[in-house]
Amino acid sequence: MLSDRPHGPSGERSAGAIAEGTRDPSGGLRSFARPSHGPRRMPLERPVEENCWELAPGLYRILLPLPWDVPFVNAYLVRAPGGWILIDAGADTPASLRALGWALKAVGVPEGGLTAILLTHRHPDHAGDVIAVQQRWGGTVYVHPAERELDRADPGVLTAWLAFTGMPPEVMETLLRRAERMPLPPDAIPYPAMPAAAGVGRGGGRPDGDVPSASGVAPDCSPLDASPRETSAGDAPTGDAHGAGATVPGLSAGDETAERAERVPVTTFSVAGLPLEVVYTPGHSPGHVMLRVPETGWVFTGDHVLPRAGINVWANPVGLANPMGTYLDNLAAVRHLDRIWGMDAREARPGADEDRATRGLVLPGHGLPWSGPMMPQAAALVDWHRQAALALRNRLPDEPGPTVFEIVAARRPEDAREKPHRLRGAVAETLAFLLWMESEGLVGRQGEAPARWYRR
Ligand SMILES: [Zn+2]
Repeated sequence: MLSDRPHGPSGERSAGAIAEGTRDPSGGLRSFARPSHGPRRMPLERPVEENCWELAPGLYRILLPLPWDVPFVNAYLVRAPGGWILIDAGADTPASLRALGWALKAVGVPEGGLTAILLTHRHPDHAGDVIAVQQRWGGTVYVHPAERELDRADPGVLTAWLAFTGMPPEVMETLLRRAERMPLPPDAIPYPAMPAAAGVGRGGGRPDGDVPSASGVAPDCSPLDASPRETSAGDAPTGDAHGAGATVPGLSAGDETAERAERVPVTTFSVAGLPLEVVYTPGHSPGHVMLRVPETGWVFTGDHVLPRAGINVWANPVGLANPMGTYLDNLAAVRHLDRIWGMDAREARPGADEDRATRGLVLPGHGLPWSGPMMPQAAALVDWHRQAALALRNRLPDEPGPTVFEIVAARRPEDAREKPHRLRGAVAETLAFLLWMESEGLVGRQGEAPARWYRR
């Protein structure tokens, strides 16, 4: 159990340690080697509270406790010319709210003192308590409209999803409760419209592109929509120095073609007098965004780029049809962002002057911030997912065999028998891998209710 109050230095170690290992799609634990060219910790931290550090003038990192396997999430506080901006809000638990309260008080933000709350995405660890936070500290909430797709999930779609995955019907209730666990304020404001043609690469969902329309709203689509897509000739793995995964044949998502990089949409807007850039990076969630303060080079990556962890990408009953492919394509696009933001040439050096050292600061949703480029971490994440996908494929038979639920249940038979709802995350993650590999022609499936999977 987490103690009520976040730990200082020991809690900090735990936050870093979350990245050391991560689950493979069917529940095993995989270790994840930190790349040798990995992130460095920023040297400028000044403790403000046990769970709050000033990273640069006017920029605070706030560590909030979570009641799950991943023990902490980062929120960030920015002093803007016209008020305070909070980026992500934490989980819907008393411990998280209290921890946020200590930090805001220590910094000097009074109740009602927030001008805006910017959400990178709407997962329970980042936005679970956003209504409570807004009620106490105020602030206009911003979120990508595609994150509202959960609210529109109807029971028919959920039933079809359960049948498709082979999950027992009694899991329905936890599916129905999911949106309730992540309520959004009704007056939340959508980020400025993203260019309609921009966003995701070939891996992204529907053949006509599941990127938001001009209104920014992603259409409903269930995994049943996912059909194999053509692999274009230009999509071969680049085979550059990202480790063994880069040479895996067939898995082309996450490559770095110029065309794909050009499609990264960066939109500028202004909050509390502070110019901001928002970058649409769907995959981890349908409306995931990264945010950047151009004046200082601070990049809030949410859960798109993390320092070390392999993160969960789930295929859900509604949302992206191929979230893993979308996610990996958008990780590859990070190289383009490094370039246009000048981060590839900018690293913290001993003796660097303060201004330079605080530019190009990468501020992830979990783990420690770093300065310097994002791409080494993004590439490591791509590799990890390629390897995990191939490991999953190797366990499949050559003929139509297990359902997604059976693949997961084989590794966690006790949960499968007694608490099948506990397997929902592993099922959703495994399905994300399968849909991606299906789009790459590496696995196939037979049937719809349920689908039975095989290796191609
Ligand atoms: Zn998260």
